[in-house]
Amino acid sequence: MKKIMIIGLATGLLAISSCSTSVVPLTGRKVSTFGVNAADLEQQAAQGYSQLLSDPKTKVVSSNSTETQRVKRIGANIQAAVTQYMNANGYGEQIKNYKWEFNLIESPEVNAWCMPGGKVAVYTGILKITKDDAGLATVMGHEIAHAIAQHSVERASDMLKAQLLGTAVGTATSGKSESTQAIVNQLYGVGAQGLYVLPNSRKQELEADKMGLSFMAMAGYNPQNAIGFWQRMAAASEGSQKPPVFLSTHPTDESRIAQIQRDLPEAMKYYKGK
Ligand SMILES: [Zn+2]
Repeated sequence: MKKIMIIGLATGLLAISSCSTSVVPLTGRKVSTFGVNAADLEQQAAQGYSQLLSDPKTKVVSSNSTETQRVKRIGANIQAAVTQYMNANGYGEQIKNYKWEFNLIESPEVNAWCMPGGKVAVYTGILKITKDDAGLATVMGHEIAHAIAQHSVERASDMLKAQLLGTAVGTATSGKSESTQAIVNQLYGVGAQGLYVLPNSRKQELEADKMGLSFMAMAGYNPQNAIGFWQRMAAASEGSQKPPVFLSTHPTDESRIAQIQRDLPEAMKYYKGK
């Protein structure tokens, strides 16, 4: 009886949020989200990104022009290939407001990420593991895939669902209520290390790997090089006191590499070489 009441309350709260369904390019996975507007999220991310890059106390844009140009060139190549693919396959609407940016951050941290709407950051610390253009394209293709698949929207929606259910339980038991807007504000207020760079689920990681391989291939980078990158990444964590930050959100093990091996033939269809 109590359970039914709680579920009823939760359903009522969910109903006032907006629902939307989208399809992830290349994998065809259907994603239902609600209460999270992708355009709002992209705008918030863009603000967070420029704040992050302009605040010397947080992150410093690299002064190494050669490496910076390499990051921007590879990013632009993948962006062009992905945009062409999206437009040709009926997904153009999904990325029409994306404002891609590719920056190299001066930091020993082994890390890279992409905020909603196409704001990519690569840290100088990861370059020793990416090694060459194809290695860097592996990382950037993967991060770009997170943005294309709108994984942040999905994660924020999942968090909202959990919070709404929690609120419904709280409302039922304590009589207090919290508006949906307050919860959304709370989610949006988490900031760059929270909402925008949420640890992805394993499902999203594998999806980004699969899509990233095809994206790098479309841009003319041989996706077979991804295996070497993930092997070097795995090796970097072995015997290390402080494993690369990238690994905390991108656990690398044999099953991940095995899945990449299985995804390669599909990605190779897009590879025509340079
Ligand atoms: Zn990832």
